[in-house]
Amino acid sequence: MATKAEVLDFIRIYADKMAEHRQELTDYDQAIGDGDHGINMSRGFKAVMEKLPTVEEKNIDDILKAVGMTLVSTVGGASGPLYGTAFMKAGAAVKGKEELSNEDILLALDEAVGGIQFRGKAVEGEKTILDSMIPAINAIKASLADGQTMAEALVAGETAAWNGVEYTKTIIATKGRASYLGERSIGHQDPGATSMAYAFQAINEVAQ
Ligand code: ADP
Ligand code: MG
Ligand code: MG
Repeated sequence: MATKAEVLDFIRIYADKMAEHRQELTDYDQAIGDGDHGINMSRGFKAVMEKLPTVEEKNIDDILKAVGMTLVSTVGGASGPLYGTAFMKAGAAVKGKEELSNEDILLALDEAVGGIQFRGKAVEGEKTILDSMIPAINAIKASLADGQTMAEALVAGETAAWNGVEYTKTIIATKGRASYLGERSIGHQDPGATSMAYAFQAINEVAQ
């Protein structure tokens, strides 16, 4: 279960992480892209933090939608529309909800993945955001199915996300700018998978 206050905490903690890890994410993107992923994500979430006070009295779905629209309109790179769509789809999935049940949370996560895939046409194993996101969600579902609490499941989710980030070092990028490098993208971790793992870290921190 998640309250609106927890959703707002998640957004704030994640925004802090994007500022804190700006250089790190940019360095990963320097190796296989154009060196702006940390700049893009921190700029987008700085704008989100400026927008948040104007929407925090609204429902969870309006808050998530506002986050998504802010990202789409302030981030030029691939990640803006992808993360933006993810937040907008997550919001639409929990329309009218004052708080989120575990089923609502899973539905929002699934819809977020669907939005990213609709926009970016990627599947798992292409060295993208999805390579930390999908394993994280699968791990959360598996833990819950095993009878664990959501807090426990989110720990497993974060672990799976970081394992997914490690996995991106071993594969060739076939979507996005890194795909221009072909085999030379092997050995480098994907910036977008990394920023998404920080999202699961933030969710986990809120739940503990
Ligand atoms: P840009 O590549 O436009 O400079 P960013 O550097 O902000 O944008 O984001 C790059 C990240 O976007 C990549 O590391 C990758 O994880 C993600 N990405 C790129 N294309 C796709 C896609 N089609 N689907 C999912 N994620 C993608
Ligand atoms: Mg880039
Ligand atoms: Mg760019």
